Amino acid sequence: MFAGSAALVALAALMAIVTALLIRAAVEARSRARSWIALFLLAMMGEMWIAAVVYLLHPSTAGLIAGVAASGGLMVVSLVPLVAALERSRRAGRGATAIGPAPVSLGPAVGIGLASLVLANELLMSWGLLLATGGLATGGTSLAAFSNVVNSPWFLFTMSGEMLLSALLLRGRLSRAVLVLLLVQSAIMLFSPTALGGTSWPSLAIYVSSALMIGLFVYLFEYLYRQRQFAPAFGAYLVELVAVYGLMMAGLFVWQYFGDGLVFALSVVLEMIVVYAALARPDGFRAAPGTPWQLRPHWTFALLTGVFVAEVCMGAVLSVQLDPADYVGGFPFLPLAGAPGTVLLNALSNGFWFFATAAGSSWFLIMMGLEMGALVVFKFRETKSLENRIRLLLLMGCYAAFAVFYPSIYFALLFPHAPNPSTVAVLGWPMGIGSYPLAIGVFGTVLLTYVILGALTALFGRRVVCSVFCTAPLMYQGTTIDAMKSFNRSSPVARKYLSSRLSGAYSVTMGLVMVALVGTSLLSYLDSIGKLAVYVQGNDPSVFFFVASFSIAWYVLFVAIPYAGNYNCVTMGWCYTGVISAAFQKIGAFKLKVRDKQVCRDCKTLDCAKGCPVGLVDMPGHFRQTGEFRSTKCCGVGDCVEDCPYDNLYISDIRHTVRRLLGRPETRPRRVPTPAAGWGHGPRPVPSLARLGPSKEAVLLPMFRDGTTGA
Ligand code: SF4
Ligand code: SF4
Repeated sequence: MFAGSAALVALAALMAIVTALLIRAAVEARSRARSWIALFLLAMMGEMWIAAVVYLLHPSTAGLIAGVAASGGLMVVSLVPLVAALERSRRAGRGATAIGPAPVSLGPAVGIGLASLVLANELLMSWGLLLATGGLATGGTSLAAFSNVVNSPWFLFTMSGEMLLSALLLRGRLSRAVLVLLLVQSAIMLFSPTALGGTSWPSLAIYVSSALMIGLFVYLFEYLYRQRQFAPAFGAYLVELVAVYGLMMAGLFVWQYFGDGLVFALSVVLEMIVVYAALARPDGFRAAPGTPWQLRPHWTFALLTGVFVAEVCMGAVLSVQLDPADYVGGFPFLPLAGAPGTVLLNALSNGFWFFATAAGSSWFLIMMGLEMGALVVFKFRETKSLENRIRLLLLMGCYAAFAVFYPSIYFALLFPHAPNPSTVAVLGWPMGIGSYPLAIGVFGTVLLTYVILGALTALFGRRVVCSVFCTAPLMYQGTTIDAMKSFNRSSPVARKYLSSRLSGAYSVTMGLVMVALVGTSLLSYLDSIGKLAVYVQGNDPSVFFFVASFSIAWYVLFVAIPYAGNYNCVTMGWCYTGVISAAFQKIGAFKLKVRDKQVCRDCKTLDCAKGCPVGLVDMPGHFRQTGEFRSTKCCGVGDCVEDCPYDNLYISDIRHTVRRLLGRPETRPRRVPTPAAGWGHGPRPVPSLARLGPSKEAVLLPMFRDGTTGA
């Protein structure tokens, strides 16, 4: 028994090795004829497995004859394209075995043929080995059989090894980034939770594959930050890859929650196609760079959406894995049965609550914290200003405290039966005073929250909330997402919200949100004292509004950054917490000031405006006229201070007011020469976009309506 199993494992391993070698032979062939020969050999392997499968399905002499006949027939058929390719080669005046100086580029047909053959071989081999070991359930549908085959260790482990070997064998033709991605992909496939039964393997595999996927996304984002341009084929591969991972995590959730592995199996097959179609044409990845991604909103949106879907589903998977009882209770699943209208409404409701529950779960927030926090750490490493460095540290600490520790640990211990949204970070503030029954019980805390945060905002600006306390800045301010602020100036929608002006669109959005906040808070209060009984799908109205705002709308608008711009909660005024905070800022001491107005008048870069993540492009004009700038939209990120090439800008708050009142200088003098001498004179510090290399000019997007950058 053991010897038989060991032999089958050895057979699968051999299959992986031979397949990888044939893939390399096809990809590195220096004549078309040779690549067709490699494909023919791959086809022959599959045809041998067909004979085995037919026999194992009908283990008899007749079955054996039928299997051999089918296999032989197909071998003859597969000779046709090979002979045709050899003939074409001969007619072209070159012998069938003549070789060129370098590998020939495989056409799309050969690339697709290669991916299809590898996939077919793997499916046939796994099917055969499952039949041989009695691991295939009988009597199910063909889709169930397909799911069984793909989710088997024969398929998943062999695929993982094959992917690893192929990547290593072709490493000389692949860039470092592609190689890293392929190696991580292979490891993720190895840790497929569906591969083995029991409880230990699925748990281990869920944790390890989730960690690997988080690492892969961090690597991918940082790569995008450093490389703004790459070959179009690589861009397409990245989007396909994250789309497949989105489907894979969704499939994992379906498998874990409903016990159906079909979606997961489908995602594995799609991943294989994506990988092998890419490996078949590695030169495509080395082609000339295309348009920078900062000028490709659709591509960026597709990438963010794929990553985000994968993350939400991963959050759900981890929640079910780690706390199944809590998760099941937190997800009101409505039956998809009845009239079409009912089915549609129930499906929408299920989608809403699935999304909200996953996005509000501790595990999702921890995972996002790790991923986006890593990008903030990268940003920290290149931040020069001490004040900005301190703020980034506070931001990360606040995320850990208010998105993870308090809601998931502290409040959960204090109020074990309170529903999730009531354990939000800043208790009371997001929901309005007295809006939730729990808040009434801790009215003093709610009031204190307003007083403390209001006072801090008045003294130090809304950065206390919007750049430190809130969970949003951790998501916005990591390297890559921060670089997406270029969309604030290029997207037609985001441009409507540029500058410190409170446009009509801003006022309408903000007004509607504030009316909704007051309305739902009032309803909630009247509910809680028994005067009314208004609930939304069984939820307190203010809790529902909170969930819709921060567990749904916030994330939808996050992935929509390429259209709505970065920090759109601030620029569009749809976050009521930010709007309340802005009101305190209006009466406070916070403003931006320059050390020397003349420097701004001479400045040709306008880097402060280009660096602003909330699109306050009118700030240089104010600096030139008055030497200072106030805007309720400014959330004190300080990128403008960081990016000013003349060290001319600083954030002024209560500390500077006190110094001024005491007759002391508000700030230190400038440390770099003035720009008055013009470009090329003096030690000009590196401007913010210099790291973009060849794509720099392309991302210097027009800042003003006349199409100029101001430079
Ligand atoms: S506007 Fe709202 S969501 Fe955006 S950073 Fe400020 S508090 Fe957070
Ligand atoms: S980049 Fe610096 S010098 Fe130029 S306008 Fe902005 S604050 Fe003034």
